[in-house]
Order: sequence, then C-alpha cells, then structure tokens
Amino acid sequence: MDYNIKYELLNYDKLMKRLNDILNNKKNIFQVIKHKPIGFSSCNFPIDHYSIGHGKKHIIYFAGCHGNEIIGVDFVTQLMNNLALGKGNFQNFPDNIYTVDFIPLLNPEGFYITTYALSSVTSNLNDQKLEEFCERYFLAYKKDDQVIKNINNLIKDVCKKMNIINISDEVINKFWLYYHDYEIITKYNLLNFFKLYIIDNENINKIIDELMTLYFNNDRINIIKEHQNIFNNISLDVIPNIDNNHQILKNKLKVMYQNNLFPISTLANFYANSNGVNLNDNNPYYYDYFKKRLIREKEIYAKGRENNILISLPSPIGMPNYDMNKPFKYENENKALLNFFQNYQNSDEYFMSFNCHSTGGLLYAKPIYNDSMFKSKIATEYINKINEVYKNMLNQDITYEIMPKGKMITGIGDLLREKYRNAYLLELSKMGGNPIGPYGDRKNNYEVTIIANMEALSNILRFF
Ligand SMILES: [Zn+2]
Repeated sequence: MDYNIKYELLNYDKLMKRLNDILNNKKNIFQVIKHKPIGFSSCNFPIDHYSIGHGKKHIIYFAGCHGNEIIGVDFVTQLMNNLALGKGNFQNFPDNIYTVDFIPLLNPEGFYITTYALSSVTSNLNDQKLEEFCERYFLAYKKDDQVIKNINNLIKDVCKKMNIINISDEVINKFWLYYHDYEIITKYNLLNFFKLYIIDNENINKIIDELMTLYFNNDRINIIKEHQNIFNNISLDVIPNIDNNHQILKNKLKVMYQNNLFPISTLANFYANSNGVNLNDNNPYYYDYFKKRLIREKEIYAKGRENNILISLPSPIGMPNYDMNKPFKYENENKALLNFFQNYQNSDEYFMSFNCHSTGGLLYAKPIYNDSMFKSKIATEYINKINEVYKNMLNQDITYEIMPKGKMITGIGDLLREKYRNAYLLELSKMGGNPIGPYGDRKNNYEVTIIANMEALSNILRFF
C-alpha cells in the first residue's frame, strides 16, 4: 500500500512545518484550503481548520481533544497529506461529492505542553533510539498499571471475603486517598487501613496475609510510578518564551504547579487545557456527576497508574469545569467545535465525523442508550477494513472492536454521537501508553494503525 508515512514525534515546530508543507506541496492532486480558525484557546492559540474537496457532504476529522494524545494529531495530519497527494485508494477520492474537514488540534495548549516536555527529553534521539525509548515508556506504563490493578483486586477480594461487596469500589478509592503518595505499600498498610476505616475482624490478618502471598509473594509492594519518573528532570523551562501566547501559557502553568500539588513529570502527559479542564469531560452531564462525587469525597485522585494525581482541582488531567463551585461553562475549544458542527448541520452539509483519540483500537459508534444489537453499516465496514489491513500487513487476527453503546453521556464524544448521525469516536492505537506508547513499535503498531485507518476511510467512501 502506497502511502507517505512519516515516523516522528510531533511538537509545536514540527506540526507547524508539517501543516505548511502539506498546504504548499506542489505534488498535491487535491487542493488543501486553510480556513480561518474555528476559535482560539484561552492563551490565544488558534484552532486551525483545513479542508480538501468541494462536495456538499462534509466529513469532519478532529483530534487532540486530550492534549497528551499525540498520535491522534499525527494521524489526522498524515491523513490530510495522503488525501491531498491522492495516495493509495485516495487517488479516486470523489472531491465533488465530499469535503473532508480537518481540525488537527482541538486542544493546542495541552498538546504543546506535552510535546515541549517530550521534546526536551527526546530531541537528540534518532528513529531507532526514539522507538526504543517509547517502548521503554510503554513497558513502564503497563507495569505501573498492573501493580495498581493487582492491589485493587486484592482489596476487592478482601471485601468479598468480609462480605462488603457492594462498596468495594468506594473502599478502593478510600484506600488511595490515604496512600496516594506512598512509594511502597506493605501488608501493614493494608491491615491498618481495613482495621481503622473499614472493618475490624479477627480474620482480617490471615486474609490479607494469604492474598499478599497469592498476588505478590511479598510483604512489600513497590508502587513507584516509573512511567512518570522518566520525566522527573523536566521543568517549566521546557516552554519557550517565543511569543505572547507562549508567555501566557507558561504563566498559567506557573500558577497551576506553584504549590507542588502535581508531579512535574505530568507536563509530559498533559491531558487538559491551560485552565486545567479536560475537554472531553467538559460537558454538563459529567459536570453534574463530578459535582456529586466532590460533595461525597471532597478530594479526588485519578485512578490506576495515575492515582497520585489530584483531579479535584484544575489539574494536568483536568476537571469538567474551570471551577466546580461555578456554573457549568464550555471551554473556548469546545464552544468552537460545537458551533462548527452545528453550522454544517444547519446548512444540511454535515455528513460524518471522526473524533480521533489515541489508544484502545476501538470505534465508538451510535447509538448511546438503546438497541444493543445495533451496529451501523459504516462502523462495520470501517472495522472490517481495519482488520483486513492488520491481517495483510502483519498476518495477525486482531481486533478493532465496535463499541455500540454506553450507559450514560460522560464525554463530548458521547454528546456528539447522540446529536449527529455517523459521529464516531476512534481510539486509534492498539498499543496503549499515552503519550508515546503507540510509537514503541513502529512497524507492528504505529504504521499499521495509520495505514489501516486511512484504508478504512477510503473503504467507506465507496458506499455513498
Ligand atoms: Zn482521549
């Protein structure tokens, strides 16, 4: 399959260069148009908009809702490049029927923070060393995840044996509220926790003893976050003062980090925008849910491998609102996106959209609430093509899966899927570990992810 795929870790400079190169490439078969930005972030960074084609049916690709999900931004720009060049099956792109709209970077602030921090560590690495570095990160991330999962399962098992089943998730949250900043968890930490806060029972000692042996074969569990520690030596100096927007950004980060509430390494994995708002969570439904949780729990930490990061304040992972004591407000980025969708809907030009996130190897399809049997034709064709490409390129039967429904609206993606037809959310890479895990296996993960998703688009375009 003949596509131009560039393996590089994007950052501010590289993204600007990539976009300019695409815009001005003399070899383009289909013209790329740069429009006025759909909006501006609170630090005044533009949210850029490009398009290819001049048909009435608009297909919207956007990425970078979570600033740390760099493969999404990477994919959308590689797609733009290959479509413009008419590569692979795009040579037959029916540009009189479709317009593909590209919003490569919805959350410029989170993306620039993450990639400035990453570049400060990776800029001297050649492709091979970069791949090794990303793989090392991927493995550390997976290990950090697994250790916490095992402890959580152990706590669940203790609850089960003590007949406190219905609240085991609450018990887990409570445990990490006390122990979030520990580097070692011992048998005695678990014992004290259960005795003091949950249940004091003569059997608890024996139960925890047995489960510690079963899960860890050890009395002490190392829970140091290796995937974070890789970036322990960075500082806010990674953000250069190249213009006014950058200075505003840096000043806002100084405020966010001033009381050392978050590990400095979170700069390299920054989900939120500079207001500390998670753009996917920034919707009225999740705001209500989170507000109720806050009233109950007061202080909330992220889950799993990131359970040392506070999220009940404006943070690198982000809250649903800039201030949970104030009424709900969409952030600039989301306001711009929702307006953009609505304008096409109003003029009857909206056709399909892809909200590109980074890890999972999933396509979230309509609908949200009902009809578990529902799988749209487009979604099925999309997934089938992905799996065919994996088979052809790697001789592997994986696969991408369709997530047909969820119980409630929690993200902006759900909100779009509820309101607009053919609105999909893509979790691109089968390999996890934001931000750089997906780059840890260039051939067997990175390239096949990019190519399969391009092929899947060209496949579904044939149907209309
Ligand atoms: Zn995401």
